[in-house]
Amino acid sequence: MTKKELAYEGKAKKVFRTEDENRFIVSYKDDATAFNGAKKGTIRGKGVVNNRVTNHLMRLLESKGIPTHFVEQLSDTDTLVKKVSIIPLEVVVRNIAAGSLVSRLGLAEGAKLAVPVLEYSYKNDALNDPLVNDYHIAALRLATPEELKIIAGYALRINDILSAYLKDAHITLIDFKLEFGKLPDGAVVLADEISPDTCRFWDDRSGEKLDKDRFRGDLGGAEDAYGEVLKRLLG
Ligand code: UDP
Repeated sequence: MTKKELAYEGKAKKVFRTEDENRFIVSYKDDATAFNGAKKGTIRGKGVVNNRVTNHLMRLLESKGIPTHFVEQLSDTDTLVKKVSIIPLEVVVRNIAAGSLVSRLGLAEGAKLAVPVLEYSYKNDALNDPLVNDYHIAALRLATPEELKIIAGYALRINDILSAYLKDAHITLIDFKLEFGKLPDGAVVLADEISPDTCRFWDDRSGEKLDKDRFRGDLGGAEDAYGEVLKRLLG
């Protein structure tokens, strides 16, 4: 399968059409953005790490019964995926308070949440991805109640699977963002990526941040942190 026209270019990935109308090629970039595009930069090697880590975790999830869009890794930065129509929701699961939750609810960063918290945001850059609940999602027809029930079930199972898996690599899964898509037959599958761009990963011994917060917060060492995640998960 080869890349044809560019179908879509996002902040961190390009998506190309292929000979097969049901397959896309995703190409991961080193470009980094934060705060809805207000901060821009480059994290050298990020595209390779995010592509390889995403595919590794998608394969793990498939093996545990979570359907995904993953088909085949084509190169260090490129992956063949099933074409889906993306459900316009950012699905966030949180285990420990960090990021926007800290300011929104006045929690201390690092505070353990009594139960995992599931949140939805409407994917809309012009509106800054506002938080929405089940009622907004139904009212705006972003997903049907049946689809949302499937999404919630998958998201919480993914949290259990990834938290346990990452623990063995001495990484605490603080929170993460998922996106889901629909296949032509209507089946809901996990899409997009699962990487240090979209998850908060903290070293479980030092508490060191091994994710995009190094870029967001100008902490330095982003390249090394991404490289460390790749090394711990793929050896
Ligand atoms: N996240 C993401 N894309 C976004 C917003 C958030 O991948 O556009 C991820 C982020 O990396 C973190 C989780 O979702 O793992 C929760 O992020 P939060 O709501 O705290 O937002 P942030 O403070 O990171 O903007």
